[in-house]
Amino acid sequence: MHGLMQDRPLMISSLIDHAATFHPETEIVTRTVEGPVHRSNYRAVQRRAKRVANAMQALGVAPGQRVGTLAWNTYRHLELYYGVSGTGAVLHTVNPRLFPEQIDYIINHAEDQVLFFDISFAALVAQLAPKLKSVHTFVAMTDRAHMPQVDLPNLLCYEELIAAQSEDYTWPVFDERTASSLCYTSGTTGNPKGVLYSHRSTVLHSLMECAPDTFNVNSNMTLLLAVPMFHANAWGMPYSAAMAGTKLVMPGPKLDGESLYTLMRDEKVTFSQAVPTVWLMQFQYFDAHPEIDTLALGLKRIGVGGAATPRSMIERFERDFGADFVQGWGMTETSPIGVISNLLPKHSGLSKEEQTTVKMKQGRGVWGVELKIVDEAGARLPHDGQAFGHLHVRGPWIASGYFKSEGGSVLDAEGYFPTGDVATVDADGYVQLVDRAKDVIKSGGEWISSIDLENAANTHPAVAEAAVIGMPHPKWQERPLLVAVLRPGAQATGAELQAFLAQRVAKWWLPDHVVFVDALPHTATGKLLKTKLREQFKDHVFD
Ligand code: ADP
Repeated sequence: MHGLMQDRPLMISSLIDHAATFHPETEIVTRTVEGPVHRSNYRAVQRRAKRVANAMQALGVAPGQRVGTLAWNTYRHLELYYGVSGTGAVLHTVNPRLFPEQIDYIINHAEDQVLFFDISFAALVAQLAPKLKSVHTFVAMTDRAHMPQVDLPNLLCYEELIAAQSEDYTWPVFDERTASSLCYTSGTTGNPKGVLYSHRSTVLHSLMECAPDTFNVNSNMTLLLAVPMFHANAWGMPYSAAMAGTKLVMPGPKLDGESLYTLMRDEKVTFSQAVPTVWLMQFQYFDAHPEIDTLALGLKRIGVGGAATPRSMIERFERDFGADFVQGWGMTETSPIGVISNLLPKHSGLSKEEQTTVKMKQGRGVWGVELKIVDEAGARLPHDGQAFGHLHVRGPWIASGYFKSEGGSVLDAEGYFPTGDVATVDADGYVQLVDRAKDVIKSGGEWISSIDLENAANTHPAVAEAAVIGMPHPKWQERPLLVAVLRPGAQATGAELQAFLAQRVAKWWLPDHVVFVDALPHTATGKLLKTKLREQFKDHVFD
């Protein structure tokens, strides 16, 4: 017997309608690509999103077709988030930091019909255009006065395009499982693969982000959106902020220390999220400006994810900013929130240092995400904080496969998605990442975490950056090789680094060799590119 409750599909358009109805005056502040700070609000975003929806029809974009963006975090990008998906078309947010050959690969793979771009990417788009097979219309996201002088077929001006449309539009209601947006992983191995989100997955993910024990997104906060809208939908925040009626502050193209600081100060930001690299840059800025009273900024909460957070970063946020630190783990394939690191009531009696140790773990599964760790054969391992295995996750906002079935079926026999991460899970359910499965070093049947070794090496005062890779070894199968970049002017020998590490890690984990290089290879999103490093050192011989 079915219940007698109304069966209303979960639609992304309902989020912006809710914000426009109940939080119409709540501001959306943008540092624009053109320069000045622009102020909009949820009412205006909804109205303009409806113009975008009408423009989709005018441009002949049918439901299910893909529309690309190459754009920063701005109010116009937010309008496209709602205006495109709201019609049933799919918003494909392209990461401009990918290599140009990856960008044309993914736009062609997605078969984007229209490409919206910020004027800072005009030259890039002009360079790519001859290779883009499906794009019939290009739209520069600006007004007439700032139109770029580039040679593009069918180039339109965003402000003119939407000004010509009515703001009268009724969002269609359709199957909530309909695709809404598309985001490609950065593809550290092989070609990037498309993760295709749905209206249902996006709305459920937003509800979870508003829960107090996750990010507690609410109408009393001001959120600085420092995670790019081209990376896993800016962690879903453009949707959950509308659901909650949160004031949004969008940094546009400027993510440097001074630009973010002035936005925080002027807009009275209380919450922000970003990857650790962005915060490290921010800290450098504050180091150079000791006159700034960071406590007076009024930051209440900081969310960090995407890469491991150093202990010193958590301590600094709590000490210098008085902000509560929350770590999240996730990936493009998990929308992205999988686990969140918050303290439990039983941790309240712990010392600050012990609490920080808990927060350094990636976190506990939120409602909606089931997780397990398994061995090579797929058998479940205990949640005892000791056993480490492949982390698999299942839930309504976790990918079931990739766009156009790239890579075939990806789920395990129980319908869990293998994340490619190796982790431990403790008795309280806290997941602690050990390594990427492809980076973990398999030595004599045991696993060594390259990340732990890198973290330890990075604390040496002479080391600017360290990478550890497993290289073939005649006796042990693999052994760790430490590749380090020294700080300018600093000196250290391999033996010194080994002695330093010997005090911090188990003896059998010690890298057999240390090599110094001028620079390490990185992916387009700033992560260590270990495939390249392994290639570079493929002839390295352990004696
Ligand atoms: P891509 O896979 O395209 O590089 P993602 O942003 O999807 O980009 O990266 C997801 C990966 O980032 C995770 O699988 C994990 O290895 C790493 N990661 C995410 N959050 C954390 C975290 N809090 N701590 C450590 N690593 C993390």
